[in-house]
Amino acid sequence: MKRRSLSKQTLLSAAWVYPVSQKPISNGALLIEKDKIVDIGLQKELEKRYPRSKKIKLKNSILLPGFVNTHCHLVHDYDEKASRDFSTWFKSMVSSVKKNKKTSKDLKQIVKKGLNELIHSGVTTVADSGPTDFPLKQLKKRGLRAIFYQEVFGFTEAQPDKFSKKIIETLKQNQESYPDRIRLGLAPHSPYTMPTKMFRDLSRLCLQEKIPLTTHVAESKEETLFFQKGKGALAELFPGRKKQIARAKSSVQYLSANRVLGSHLLSAHCVQVDSKDVSLLANKDVNVSFCPTSNQFLNVGTAPVHELLKRKVTVGLGTDGASTSGSLNFFQTLRDAALLGRLECDQVIRLATLGGATAMGMEKEIGSLKKGKKADCVAIKIPKKGLEAKELSSYLVWKGQSKDILFSMVNGKVLF
Ligand SMILES: [Zn+2]
Repeated sequence: MKRRSLSKQTLLSAAWVYPVSQKPISNGALLIEKDKIVDIGLQKELEKRYPRSKKIKLKNSILLPGFVNTHCHLVHDYDEKASRDFSTWFKSMVSSVKKNKKTSKDLKQIVKKGLNELIHSGVTTVADSGPTDFPLKQLKKRGLRAIFYQEVFGFTEAQPDKFSKKIIETLKQNQESYPDRIRLGLAPHSPYTMPTKMFRDLSRLCLQEKIPLTTHVAESKEETLFFQKGKGALAELFPGRKKQIARAKSSVQYLSANRVLGSHLLSAHCVQVDSKDVSLLANKDVNVSFCPTSNQFLNVGTAPVHELLKRKVTVGLGTDGASTSGSLNFFQTLRDAALLGRLECDQVIRLATLGGATAMGMEKEIGSLKKGKKADCVAIKIPKKGLEAKELSSYLVWKGQSKDILFSMVNGKVLF
């Protein structure tokens, strides 16, 4: 897949332009110059205004902002033997990381397959976390926009203070070798794996150095039990952590007491949260990644997405890794968000684009089709008979499929 640079002005037109931040435009167009959207409107008017532009006619399709996947692990592969019980699955995940059986060649193939699934289901931005920087090279090569979060566990570190400072320094240094569209962030794995002081320090350093931060929060009932009573499967798995934690009513309240919550945090899952937790997330401006497919796979429940949205918490959608979602096909995530989150389809599309962009701190650059924003967009084929404006979001959610993705662009460059 070779990316082409568009040298001059390019006019993309489609049966529908669905900007998300404004009403859909029938027979609409976007004018792209270098990496940015410089105009948006009716195809006829834009063709008159920019007669010398190169025309790409996407005809019978919906042109919309590329999807933003706010939680992913490109190195996790689908495993037909995977348990659907959270703590059993987690134990086997930890032991497979320790055994480290996968070769570089295996990992390369897994990441490649995952990226294909993302790109061919309309994703143009991904928040990916992993213990090794394997996906980075491929993200750079394939042209996606991304935050790659270096995943850390920390409980085995002999000199925690040194470790924290060093990892932040390394991220700052490594950032220099990546283009603007790829940012490096940090992913302390979870409040139950990361030592308390280390988590507090890392969060403070990330805030100070403007390094994106993500973690898994309140995913399972076992996690709540771990914080409330220091008991259960997770406490057995991490006996050392048990002594360090001050008893808290919940994972969110533990993070709040340790000053980890803030607008710099993207917190994945937030399934096991009560109304006090939701208030804390809202008051501290924490961003949430709603991962309905993965949560259902591991039988942990569904995040109270209506309550989160009602309290104005920023919510984006995430696939999580293929080991708990089967594949990284984002259309599955759209459908599961609608079904399990009981969301309206236009709300689903909003979370999948602008919601995700805001959750990743990128709302000024991407997430909607607007003058001045980066040219990140995809076109999805629609039936020949056409659709009405009010049918677009439901078509995308219920009927969208990979084979109908006609076009994808990131940063003004055509992915395919
Ligand atoms: Zn995850």
